[in-house]
Amino acid sequence: MTGRLGQRPPAGDAEPVQREEQPQTGDWRSLLLSTMASRGKIVLVAGPGLAGMTVEQQLVAVPPEAGENEAWRTLEPLVEASLRAASEPTEELSLAARAVRESRIAAAIYLGVDGALSWLAARRSDAVIEVYGSVTRARCPRCGTRIQLSRAPGRAPRCPRCGAAMQPDAVPPGGEPLRRKLREAIYEATTADLLVACCLDQCTLGTTLTLAATRFTRLLLLGDDPVLRPAASATAPPREALRLLAAKPTVQQ
Ligand SMILES: [Zn+2]
Repeated sequence: MTGRLGQRPPAGDAEPVQREEQPQTGDWRSLLLSTMASRGKIVLVAGPGLAGMTVEQQLVAVPPEAGENEAWRTLEPLVEASLRAASEPTEELSLAARAVRESRIAAAIYLGVDGALSWLAARRSDAVIEVYGSVTRARCPRCGTRIQLSRAPGRAPRCPRCGAAMQPDAVPPGGEPLRRKLREAIYEATTADLLVACCLDQCTLGTTLTLAATRFTRLLLLGDDPVLRPAASATAPPREALRLLAAKPTVQQ
């Protein structure tokens, strides 16, 4: 049989299942290492805290009546902070991005709108599912062209293809997540062999998705989260766990 670490023994009067002697906090290494060794699918779900940003900081509302340039002016401080988060990344963000680039993380569901993780994931940016989009990209409402911003534009950039004023490629605060991205996120989370959750406090969607996915997969919780803790197979210190995920494999297979 293929016993899975972290799997709960059946309820009732079942015989004691072989259990690790270590306390739960020590289990996270073996949980992560065994999943990596068996080439299991590891999916990360993370909030903007990974990029060193807060949820409040990202909730910048653009008034509905704002003109095309005013929208970008309102977002300017957030776009600047987001670009800074990518150019001066926290260690956790760097490690997570490296783990995505090295395909140690199969997919990353990201709840922030800073775009920092997908930017740092470089050629594997498609593996980062930004369910609320990113304020560091502009999208053309006419032809759908998207461009990555290298600085806060201050006024609406023009579409390189059709010349229309471009809009931020992000969902405004309180808006619905992008439907296609959400479908993708649910698929990835529920088909993972191990879901790794990080910085989800105040991310209702991320927390809900993670809790729902634990019916299908095991959860490794990075840091603490009173809502997610009861559903977690193990908890780990974020930096140490991300270091392990990002490290080059030491054993040749
Ligand atoms: Zn266009």
